[in-house]
Amino acid sequence: MEGTLVMGCSSCHDRAAKLFKNRSKGTMYHGDLTIKDEPFSIMNVVKQGVFWSVHLACLAVIWVGFSWVAFAVCIALYVIRMFAITGAYHRYFSHRSYETSRWFQFVLAVLGTTAAQKGPIWWASHHRHHHRHSDTEEDIHSPIVHGIYFAHIGWVLSSQFIEPRLDLVKDLTKYRELRILEKYNVVPAILLGVATFFLGVYLQHAFPTLGTNGWQMLVWGFFVSTVLLYHGTFCINSFTHLIGKRRFPSTDHSRNHWLLALITLGEGWHNNHHYYPGSERQGFYWWEIDVSHYILKTLSWFGLVWDLRVPPARVYEAAGKLT
Ligand SMILES: [Zn+2]
Ligand SMILES: [Zn+2]
Repeated sequence: MEGTLVMGCSSCHDRAAKLFKNRSKGTMYHGDLTIKDEPFSIMNVVKQGVFWSVHLACLAVIWVGFSWVAFAVCIALYVIRMFAITGAYHRYFSHRSYETSRWFQFVLAVLGTTAAQKGPIWWASHHRHHHRHSDTEEDIHSPIVHGIYFAHIGWVLSSQFIEPRLDLVKDLTKYRELRILEKYNVVPAILLGVATFFLGVYLQHAFPTLGTNGWQMLVWGFFVSTVLLYHGTFCINSFTHLIGKRRFPSTDHSRNHWLLALITLGEGWHNNHHYYPGSERQGFYWWEIDVSHYILKTLSWFGLVWDLRVPPARVYEAAGKLT
């Protein structure tokens, strides 16, 4: 199915390649390195420093204290950005499981970058690679092959996967605005952090009884929310190939788990998804809660997205036929 996704003109691809060239010479995974090979890269040291600093910043809750409004913003930004990862980065940019306009595609892309999980081109390219090689030696985050730590977090911190796999995302790199956003993908996340701080400052003065302030809102609304978002997303790479039930005879170890589906707005129906990745909805039955699907369905009523693809009858006929 993903072969149909790899399209685009060669000059667009060349321009995209130029955009990314020399950013980390020698660190791109070409398939000729083993997962355990770790070329040294200054860029990777910086990336790891930022990643762990965001985690350490959460400890500041000890000093900034708690308020319900800061906690509510933390949860709201988790849900909005989890949708951006699942509904946009995953179901749209990685799998093109529905259609949208070019301007709304860009809105979805910008929303995704606020999750601080790099740009849609990088994200989609590595995810498409995961589907092509799921739970084989080539799969960069298979818990079966490389262990749960590497699947959850190790590959994110690896120096091998800093660059996108441009050959897998030619349909995305043909858009100039996506290439530019990819280059400056940290900017929207930084702006969101600044915005949470000033929201807290505003609320402190306009509604002092709420008991919040700039620093408290920054820590809860941005840092805690972002770390929860990281690990919610990473659970899909690690746990959904280890725990839960299998309904479909996919060629990997993917599984369905209701709790993982709840915390990731529907991504926990991972066995469904691996068996038929072209479907926009990942809960294939009405009782499989899939919040991202409900949001996309609602957006379709307003004409913002359309052609939401569903599993064909032959997929449902394969349910339960595991042998
Ligand atoms: Zn998977
Ligand atoms: Zn997928």
